[in-house]
Order: sequence, then C-alpha cells, then structure tokens
Amino acid sequence: MKVSSRTLFKKLVEIFQNLPKQHRGFIIASSCFLLLLLIIPSSEESLEVEEIQVGKRIQVALPEDIVPLETISRQSALPQRRSNKAHNKIITEPLPSLSPPLSTQQGGSLISGKLQRKIKIQGTIEELANLSWQTVKVRSGDSLALILKRLGFSAQTTYAVSTAKGKDSKLLKRLNVGDQLRIASNEAELLAALEYPLSKTDTLFINLVGDSYQSHRESKEVEIRESFSYGTITSSFWNAGVSAGLNDSQIINFANIFGWDIDFALDIRAGDNFNITFENKYIEGEYIGTGNILAAEITNQGEVFQAIRFTDDEYYTPDGRSMRKAFLRAPVNFKYISSSFKPKRFHPVQKRWKAHRGIDYAAKQGTPVVAAGNGKVTHAGYSKYNGYYVFIQHGNDIVTKYLHFYKRAVVKKGQRVKQGQVIGYVGSTGLAAGPHLHYEFLLNGVHRNPRTVKLPDARPIEKKYKAKFSLLAVERLKALSGAKNALLSTEKNAIAAND
Ligand SMILES: [Zn+2]
Repeated sequence: MKVSSRTLFKKLVEIFQNLPKQHRGFIIASSCFLLLLLIIPSSEESLEVEEIQVGKRIQVALPEDIVPLETISRQSALPQRRSNKAHNKIITEPLPSLSPPLSTQQGGSLISGKLQRKIKIQGTIEELANLSWQTVKVRSGDSLALILKRLGFSAQTTYAVSTAKGKDSKLLKRLNVGDQLRIASNEAELLAALEYPLSKTDTLFINLVGDSYQSHRESKEVEIRESFSYGTITSSFWNAGVSAGLNDSQIINFANIFGWDIDFALDIRAGDNFNITFENKYIEGEYIGTGNILAAEITNQGEVFQAIRFTDDEYYTPDGRSMRKAFLRAPVNFKYISSSFKPKRFHPVQKRWKAHRGIDYAAKQGTPVVAAGNGKVTHAGYSKYNGYYVFIQHGNDIVTKYLHFYKRAVVKKGQRVKQGQVIGYVGSTGLAAGPHLHYEFLLNGVHRNPRTVKLPDARPIEKKYKAKFSLLAVERLKALSGAKNALLSTEKNAIAAND
C-alpha cells in the first residue's frame, strides 16, 4: 500500500492538533532547540576530520614550517614530506593548535592553519615519530629478499611486502642496480614503510596497515617550460650544438629532423646557423631534463630549412609537408663523421665524382650504415672490388649501392629493408685504401649525386589537420624568430659592452 507523503503529513498534523496543549508546547520548544543546535556551528566542528582521498598526497606541516610545540616535538623524527595514504588505522585526533606556517614551500601544496587540523595521520604521532628510516642502495645481484635480509627482516616480511595489496607491488621484483630504497621500521622492529623511487616522477609506497601491507604509486606532475637556443657553425655541427647548450640527444634529434634534406656528414659549412625551440621539464621547480624539439631551423649553405613539430609527434615544413622523405640524404649518421669539415679522404669526392660515381664517407671501421630508403635487397655478397656489399632496389626507378663493408648486417637477397635499418658496418674490404663507405645512387640506371638529386615531394599533412597545423606553425615560427632575435641582440650588447 502506498502512502503519499502528503497524506502522512496531514495525519501527523491531525494527531498533533489532538494532543493536549502542554504536550504541544513541549514539542514546539524542543524542536526549536534542536533547530538551534543545527544552525549554530559548534566550536568543535572545525576540528572534524574530512574524508581523505585515496592516493592523494597530503603534506603535513613539518617542524621547519611550524612553531614546534612540546606535544609534537617528536615530530622532528618524521621524514620530510610524508605522504598520507588511506589506511584502516587512521587517528582522527586533530593536531594540537599549530601556528600558520612560517614559510611557504615552492611547488609543494601548502596546508595552513585550519586545514592542518583536519589532517589525518597514519598511526599516532608517537608511532610515526618512532619510525627509523634507512636508505639502501640496490647492488648488483640484489633482490628485495637479499636487501631485507641484510636489514634483519624475516623471509615472511619479504613475502608480505612483495605481495602487498595493490597492483604496483610487483615492481619490487625488478630492482635496478643503483636504485635507492627507503625503509622504515617501527618500535616493534617490524617493517613499517618502504619507498621506492621508480623514476624522477614516480614513487612506489608500501605501508604496513594493521597487520598487512598495502602499496600504491604516486606521480609528480611534470611542468614543461619552453626554451630556445641559437648557434653558428664554425668547426662542426656537433661542436656548434654543444656550444649552443644542446645535449647529445638534442643534437642528434635535430640532425634527424633534417636528415632527409641535409647530409650532416658532408654538407655542413662554416657560417651555417641553426635555431631551435624546445621543451625543458621540471618537477616541483627542479629541472629534470629536456623534452621535445618544438621547432627548428637551419640555414645550410644559404638555404633555409624549417621544421615544426605537430601533435602526431611528426615534423612538418611550415606549409605542412612532412619532413620525412623517401630517402635519407646520407646513409651514415653524421655523429661518426662530422668531427671536421676536412676529413682526410683518400680520394676526395668532388674531384673524382665523374670517374668514381659515388660518395665516400670516411668513418671508423664498424660505424653502422643504414638503408637510405625502404626497399628490397637485390644483391648482398662479396667481390674483389666491392668487398662486402649490398644493393637495394627502391620502387622501380631507384637503386642504392653500399660497398666495402667490414661486415654485412643480417641482410639477404630478396629481403625487404626499412629506411634507417642497419644493413652493414663501415670497413675497407675490396678495393679500398682505408675504412669508408662508398655509396651510389642510381635513378633509372643513371648515377646521380644523392646529396643533390631532386626527389619527389613528401606527403603533406592530412587535410583535416591542415588548419590546426597552420595556426600552430605561425605561433612556433614566431617564437623561433623571436628567440633568435633576442639572443642575437643580447650577443650584440655583450660585444658592445666588451668594446
Ligand atoms: Zn668510393
């Protein structure tokens, strides 16, 4: 049977009206009192503890942040920035009245005044204060079991820790040499907590909760800041990159972006210059390394090349053509070669081009050689003149040849190879005076200079992304030229100041 709230209310009013006057008065008075209790905030209310979100890092005010009080003076034994996890055993007792923090901490979340009182702390303050922490470095051949044994913990503890609740505890099975574990034991000499930094951003936490272990992982947010660099080449692209403050991987990535247009091994000249905007990564204000190259520009022998990174992690020209092309300008990475503009070549390319019909890359024996483009191996063998060699057919009209390998990579006749795939290693087999790669490029059976041959245009960006890309390109190029001009004017000022 359904009773609507309306009829129920009517019935109650009826009953109420039928009550003796004294009873009615008492009910009204006590209702008002209850209402008052609800409206007026209790002075205790601000001390009530709020629910804590699982996995959320909460910063507890530490002695350096607060005026130490006698009741919590033992807090000084607390590890800094202890995070507070969800635990079964959570004390709801608020911290004694704490003064507002004396200093603000950069990057960290600041919990002040009233909020501090709402923080739940794992175990009692006494318990936490009595944890003793040790930092252990993972040695070669170490395992969690060995480490915990050295610290005097039982095999049962190792088992309980490595099977802690939570999907991340299995990461303890893959400890890397040199990693550092922080391990805390409590007064009962039980392993109470373990912290394992997995990377610059992530840490695995294991905590004793009641009589079992729980694990969880925390990630710090990476902040990206844009940076830029400019350089002029005087001796080599590598050296110029280093002088401009770029690291090894940035220099290699930069050359890779333009590797389809420019032969960084042989075509870079003094006076060429480059310009780059890139990401720098920070965690809590601390620099942790570089990120992606956002835009790059190089002026090579008077010709300007520009590339912009798009959201698909690919690089495009400002008008939206992919930087990737069917052929790399050079089948060897410049980093092995470009230490100088004048490598001691036994038969200089320019002079012998006609007779010789190929390009020589002098490099150390063993330097990897890659396929300049996708294709199919037509020849892979050894001959008196060529030494170990590989020929690749690309489509119908182009063939590339690679001679004098010290040894071939595992490539066989008929095999398909991808652009950039290693096909052999520089050597001096066959008719060669010293270790070098002899590289030929044939278009319809005619030898062409691979560094200058006109190749088909690259695939443009998908139509649906064109508008989005164009907007980004304008912005990136503006940042690129702005950065360059700023750096150049600082340079000029510095020169002027020195004069
Ligand atoms: Zn040659």
